[in-house]
Amino acid sequence: MAVATKPHVAVLPSPGMGHLIPLLEFAKRLATHHAVHVSFLVVTTESSPAQRRYLDSAALPSDLHVIKLPPADVSSVITPDMPILTKLSLLCRESVKPLGSIFEKISLPKALIIDNFMGDAFDICKNFNVPVYTFYTSATKSLALALYLRKLDKEVDCEFVDVAEGSIRVPGCKSIYVDDLQDSLKNRKAEAYKWNMLHASRLTMATGIFVNTWDDFESKSSWFHGLNNDPYFRNLPAPPLYRVGPLIKHDEAVAESDAFILSWLDNQECDSVLFVALGSGGTMTSEQLSELALGLEMSKQKFVFVVRKPSDIDVCGTYFNAGSNVDDPKTYLPEGFLDRTKGVGLVVPTWAPQVHVLGHKATGGFLSHCGWNSTLESMAYGVPIIAWPLFAEQRINATLLTEEVGVAVKPEGVLQGGRRVVRREEVERVVRLVMEGEEGKVMRNRMGELKESAAKALKHGGSSYDSLSCVVKSWK
Ligand code: UDP
Repeated sequence: MAVATKPHVAVLPSPGMGHLIPLLEFAKRLATHHAVHVSFLVVTTESSPAQRRYLDSAALPSDLHVIKLPPADVSSVITPDMPILTKLSLLCRESVKPLGSIFEKISLPKALIIDNFMGDAFDICKNFNVPVYTFYTSATKSLALALYLRKLDKEVDCEFVDVAEGSIRVPGCKSIYVDDLQDSLKNRKAEAYKWNMLHASRLTMATGIFVNTWDDFESKSSWFHGLNNDPYFRNLPAPPLYRVGPLIKHDEAVAESDAFILSWLDNQECDSVLFVALGSGGTMTSEQLSELALGLEMSKQKFVFVVRKPSDIDVCGTYFNAGSNVDDPKTYLPEGFLDRTKGVGLVVPTWAPQVHVLGHKATGGFLSHCGWNSTLESMAYGVPIIAWPLFAEQRINATLLTEEVGVAVKPEGVLQGGRRVVRREEVERVVRLVMEGEEGKVMRNRMGELKESAAKALKHGGSSYDSLSCVVKSWK
C-alpha cells in the first residue's frame, strides 16, 4: 500500500510578537492536527528577547522546522523617526528578498501562508507557481475595512477624520468612528497611508485568507454576512475567508524567572486579581503611567502590573525589541508606589507569561491595549477587559469589545495639553466596576460563554477545525 506523503507548506510571519505568535500557533496546528509538514520562515530580530525566548521554549512538533531568514541590512533604508508602519513595511520588504533562494534549498511548498505585511512574497511566489494565502492577525472588522479601503479612497474626497458623520460606513459592520482609525489612515498624504493602501490592496491577491476568529463569534455580528452579501464585496475578486481561530499561545513553558508571578497568584482568591499589560510594544507617557498606577492603588484591588519605561513620544516603544528595556521601575513609577502596594500588587518589568496569568483562576480582569491576540487570549480564558487601546487597530477592537460584544469597559479620558489622559479617579472607577461591580459580573459571564464556544470551535469536528481541514485537503 502506498504511504501518503505529508504536504509541505511554508509560513512567513512578519516581525513583532503579535504577528509571530499567531502564525507560529497556526503552523503548530497544521503540523499537529492536520498532518502537514511546515517550514516556518522567521525574520531574525536579535534585539527581541521575548521572540528568542518564545521560539526556543515553544514545544515544536517534529514536523515543524524553523528556518531563519538571513538578516536584512536596513541601516540605509530605515530611520528612527519613521512611523512604525513604515519601518515595519520596509523591514518586511527587505527581509523577503531571499525567499526565492530559500525555496531552492527546501522542497518547494504546496503553499505559502504569509502575514499581511509580507505581500512582497506574491511576486516571488508567482515565479515558482506557489499559491499564497494570507493569515490575517486582527479582527474581521479591520479586515472588512482593509478590503473596503480602495473604494473609500476613491469615494471620500477629504481626510477620513473630517467626514461629516464622524464615522466610516463599512458594509456589514457597525460604522467605525473616525477617532478609532489607525494613525496611518488619519493623514492620506503621509507615507504610512500609502503603505496601508498597498497592504490592503494585496489582500485580494491571496488564494485564501485565514482569519483568527471563529464562526460562532462572528455569527453574533453581521460582519461576515456583510462581506458575503454586500455588492461591493461580491464583485471584488476577494478570496475565500477561512475562520480558523482562536489560535493563541498555549503551551509555552514558564521561565524560571517568571515562576514567582504564578506562585503569588496561587495565594490569591478566585477572580480577585487584575492583570495589567499593554502587549509586546505598548508604552505610556510618564503622566499617564503615574495616573494609572495611582488609580490602581486607589482601587484597593489586587493586581499584576507589567510596566515599561514610559515614553512621551512613542506609544509602541518596544515593538521590535519586546522583552527588553529593563530599567528599574522605581525610577519611573510614582514615588512610594512600590512600598505602598507591597502585598496588594505585583509589579513585573517589561514582560510576563501572559497566557499563564490569564489562565490562572485568581485572575478576574485584564486591563489590556486590545491587541487582537490579547483579546483572543482573554476570551479563551473568560476574563473581562478594561480597554486601553494605544495604536494600530486597537481602538477599533476596543470599541468592538465594549459596544458590540459587551465584554469590556473603556475608561473616559480628558483632554489636557492636547493629549487625552485618563485620570486616576477614572482608573479607580473602571477597575472597581470590573472587579467588584454587577457590570463586571455580566461581562465575566459573557466571556465565559465565549470561552466555551471558542474551545468547541477548535475541537475535532468544530467549525475552525473543519474550515482548516478543508484547505489542507486541497493541498494533498
Ligand atoms: N505578551 C506576553 N507577555 C507580555 C506582553 C505580551 O506574553 O508581557 C504576548 C501576549 O500574550 C500576546 C502577544 O504578546 O500573545 C501580544 O500580541 P497582541 O496582538 O495582543 O498585541 P501587540 O503586541 O501586537 O500589540
